[in-house]
Amino acid sequence: MGDFNQTVILDAIRRSGQGLSRVELVGAVGLAPQTVSNIVRRLLDAGLVTEAGKTSGGAGKPRTTLRVHAAGSYAVGVQLDPAVTTSVLLDLMGNVVARRIADTPHGNNPAQVLTAITSQVASLLTETGVDRGRVAGLGVATPGPIDRESGTVLDPPNLPGWHRVPLRSGLASSTGLPVLIEKDVSAAAAAEIWVSGRRSTPSFLFVYIGTGIGCAVALDGEVLHGVSGNAGEIGHLVTDASGPECSCGQRGCVAVTCTPRSLVRAAHGPGSAPAVPPGAPDSAITAAFLDICRSAVSGDEAAARLVDRAAVRTANAVATLAAVYDVDRVIFGGPFWSPLSARYLAAVPAALADRPVPGSRPIEVSATVLGEDVTAVGAACLVLDRALGPRRERLLLEG
Ligand SMILES: [Zn+2]
Repeated sequence: MGDFNQTVILDAIRRSGQGLSRVELVGAVGLAPQTVSNIVRRLLDAGLVTEAGKTSGGAGKPRTTLRVHAAGSYAVGVQLDPAVTTSVLLDLMGNVVARRIADTPHGNNPAQVLTAITSQVASLLTETGVDRGRVAGLGVATPGPIDRESGTVLDPPNLPGWHRVPLRSGLASSTGLPVLIEKDVSAAAAAEIWVSGRRSTPSFLFVYIGTGIGCAVALDGEVLHGVSGNAGEIGHLVTDASGPECSCGQRGCVAVTCTPRSLVRAAHGPGSAPAVPPGAPDSAITAAFLDICRSAVSGDEAAARLVDRAAVRTANAVATLAAVYDVDRVIFGGPFWSPLSARYLAAVPAALADRPVPGSRPIEVSATVLGEDVTAVGAACLVLDRALGPRRERLLLEG
């Protein structure tokens, strides 16, 4: 359904808050009045916008205000993290109508994860009583690497046991919905653009803190996907040349200096947080990580030093990437961002100011406006984007 202009018009009405008249739309989007009028008619017929009364603006005919019909279309977004799975039902205004969050069961068993996602989605739709005919599809944000063309999860380092899993076709048949899959960090960046608008937040880095850490780059309102759709893998970017050894042969990679697991590992030692034995389940790592974060916030000096060191190392990676891509804004989010946020929002800007890359501009540091749901919301936004008007990028839905 629809075309790029239709997406632009729907976007403009959605972002206006109070709604727009046809005349105001012409001014806002720069399309011919007849084109605007035709597209608005289509949107009205499809139940995606409504006429919300008339306003008289002095001289001339009163104008009819157009608003997005929030219940005109929905999308389900799922974020699959090895430790935790989050699902949201998003309406056309981008409101989270319902959400579910649960530990990811047996993350190393794709069949069980698929079953868990299927039942989360079913319970979201049942609980809200939303008409399935109004659900545009299901977007799933997953750790990379993925093959976007075939909807396959390849062999993510944080999901042992996953090798070339056809997640998109599996979920399309188990849920009966059109499905798209996207790399987690790219979905999170897409959510930020969708909510804030391409004009207000065009270019930024999105640092995703989950079981793994990734960094999406958005330039001029578009998320960079790369040749294979797997841009954003920063696990082996060196943040501290004297840091711990990494399986890749280097020292001090992001993967061994900034992840929740690396914080827990670094906390082993006399008088520090409880040790987690090698091979312990993700839930044990999560519990120990949250314990460290809580201690850091409540004034435990050893825990605070650990978290701040990870923040400084993360800032090193950010400084390099911001210089490479010429961006002056970094947004943090992801399932394990919020426990770190209090200390990171102080330590990261300080570290960036301390060690500026020569010739670069100051970097603004902020947290996602969407909280813990950002990645799941992003997966749902991509579905709405795709269903309501194909964009230049190729996002393949299977249904
Ligand atoms: Zn490495």
